[in-house]
Amino acid sequence: MNSPYFDPLEQKIGGYSRADQAFIRKAFDFANEAHKGQERQSKEPYITHPVAVASILADMHLDIFSVVTGLLHDTVEDTSTSIESIQKEFGNEVADLVQGVTKLSKIELKSHKTKEAENFRKLVLAMSDDIRVLLVKLADRLHNMRTLSYKKFQESRERTARETMEIYAPLAERIGMHEIQEELEDRAFRELKPNIYESFIKRLELLQVEGDNIIEKVKEDLKKTLFSVGVIGEVSGRQKTPYSIWNKTSHKEVKFEQISDVMAFRIIVNSIPDCYQALGAVHSHYTVLPGKFKDYIGTPKPNHYQSLHTTVGHQGQSIEIQIRTKEMHAIAEYGVAAHWEYKQKSLDSQNIGKEGRQYGWLRTLLDILDTANGPEEFLEHTKMEMYPNRVFCFTPLGEIISLPKGATCIDFAYAVHSDIGNKCTSAKINGKLVPLRTEISNGDQVEVITSPNHEPSPAWEKFVVTGRARSSIRRYVRLKKRSQFITLGVRIVEKYFEKKGKKFERQLLEPILENFNCQNIDDLLFAVGNGEYTGQEIVSSLFHDNDIMSQQIPTNQFHSLKSQKEKELDSGKPASCFPIFIKDLIPGLAVHYAKCCHPLPGDKIIGIRIKGKGYTVHTLGCEVLNQYDDKQDRLEDAFWNETEGFQFTGRIKVSMINQPGNLGMVSNIIGSEKCNIGNLKITNREVEFSDLVFDLEVQNTGQLESIISNLKGCLVVTKVERI
Ligand code: MN
Repeated sequence: MNSPYFDPLEQKIGGYSRADQAFIRKAFDFANEAHKGQERQSKEPYITHPVAVASILADMHLDIFSVVTGLLHDTVEDTSTSIESIQKEFGNEVADLVQGVTKLSKIELKSHKTKEAENFRKLVLAMSDDIRVLLVKLADRLHNMRTLSYKKFQESRERTARETMEIYAPLAERIGMHEIQEELEDRAFRELKPNIYESFIKRLELLQVEGDNIIEKVKEDLKKTLFSVGVIGEVSGRQKTPYSIWNKTSHKEVKFEQISDVMAFRIIVNSIPDCYQALGAVHSHYTVLPGKFKDYIGTPKPNHYQSLHTTVGHQGQSIEIQIRTKEMHAIAEYGVAAHWEYKQKSLDSQNIGKEGRQYGWLRTLLDILDTANGPEEFLEHTKMEMYPNRVFCFTPLGEIISLPKGATCIDFAYAVHSDIGNKCTSAKINGKLVPLRTEISNGDQVEVITSPNHEPSPAWEKFVVTGRARSSIRRYVRLKKRSQFITLGVRIVEKYFEKKGKKFERQLLEPILENFNCQNIDDLLFAVGNGEYTGQEIVSSLFHDNDIMSQQIPTNQFHSLKSQKEKELDSGKPASCFPIFIKDLIPGLAVHYAKCCHPLPGDKIIGIRIKGKGYTVHTLGCEVLNQYDDKQDRLEDAFWNETEGFQFTGRIKVSMINQPGNLGMVSNIIGSEKCNIGNLKITNREVEFSDLVFDLEVQNTGQLESIISNLKGCLVVTKVERI
């Protein structure tokens, strides 16, 4: 079946094997069918675009998979074709390439900032894990630029042109594809600065007429010069593009009239010695402009560009001349692709198998990037990992954020702003709600949800990789900890003032700061809160009460703790106490809950002072308290305040009959009380029975008791107790 739309490509693929040509034809038929009925904005059938892209790739003599990908590159994005069907028809390699190009098509530069453009280029490189993805994308962009004028809206033309100028032209340069780079730049420039472009074109035409075909004359002159020293070479000459001239002027603010450097000539010779001989001849024939000579043969550019550059004067004009060998020329024009062609030719002559040829150019690229300077240029097998240690993602406004690999939504939040990090409660990746600790992938769009009253958790430190996030969390926790200790210190001192029948005021502490080696009142309160000093020490220092200063507590004041509490229960009155306002003291900072007895709101509690760490809260029945019978000064009464909305850990031991499904039954009963199981451990397992220890997340003793009584009612449970 013949199609006129295949013709342009057919002309370019004569150099490919018969089998390859058939493969290309198959891909054409597939794409033609997929895009059936679709039109470009030029009103041409859509298939003309993939054909043009494939033709550009075939022109560059790229491998068969790149050319086929050129034909298929828009089928997944723009038609109902699935990646699976491409995989089925054309194999994994083509499917991977098509998917790579499709992913790239979905990202778009939205910002004007220079730094963003650099990050965006890195993102494109990071997402092109196979360099052929980038080559297809560049060919795609080149054809879109060639047909840019058909786009209806100026805004959209401008956006494409700007993206081309800022992203794709520099990328083309980076991999050494100068011909494509130059065309992309020139076409983008024409769209972005149409007036300047037109005036340059007119001036250049005029110059050409005035100069009486000066380019041809210089060309002839150069040929004669070469001939005189016996060097065989080709000479070509051309006017520079408006963009390349403008690019020079705009930086130096030179008027067009002053620009004489508008012509460029190229001498292509057979060998490196010929390059230097040609240079010698040129330098002795023309006036050399000082400071313009560059030897990129001796010192190639990072992308392996090689040439001799010089600028000479001729009849008031300066003329740029590049001298290079044929191979250098091919590399200068087609970069990595040219490497492949040359490699292939030499491999052909050595009669090496087809497979060796197919990946020859990739291996060469590997050589280039391996020897290239800079850690970013790194390549692994056929995979191009330009930025193995970075991920690039977007804010909802399209700004690009660059983060180290492994970064999570919390890192992202802190990278945007430390305030956003401190207040973030949850995150969305590509519109989907995810846990904050979720790792970010290249190209993700990340949205952070904040709440004004939210605070960072010390546990976040485990989920971050950036120093910025880590230090912000630490700083926050440190400050919070200090304010918590100060609050706790106030409570304790207040209590001892109360005992003395005095009213506490901060200023009253001023005279005794020196006694405790503190700079200010906050420091002293902090020291009390974290257990350095007791409330008794403060009041005795203040009221010169030496009895208490000695830290000997009269035994009659503290009987057995239990009996004291029991008395209190009997009378129904709260004992003198320092209230632990659980609500504004974050557990884990100033106040810790003992892991031995897991106190819950509703339990009678007592605090043990631990120097430098504040207080650990135990239940009144906890055995640990026995060790403090003779260290009563380290104990402080405590009671619960508002604890609504907080979760505490309650630990229970369940003995149950071993039978399939029984554990599920127990879990269901716990779950029906809207309680999460934080941890579960089998402590004893016999043939008939098992003992299980559950850590349950509960709000208070009431909830735990209700769970326990529900479990007691369960037939498979033989015993339940809180431990
Ligand atoms: Mn396309």
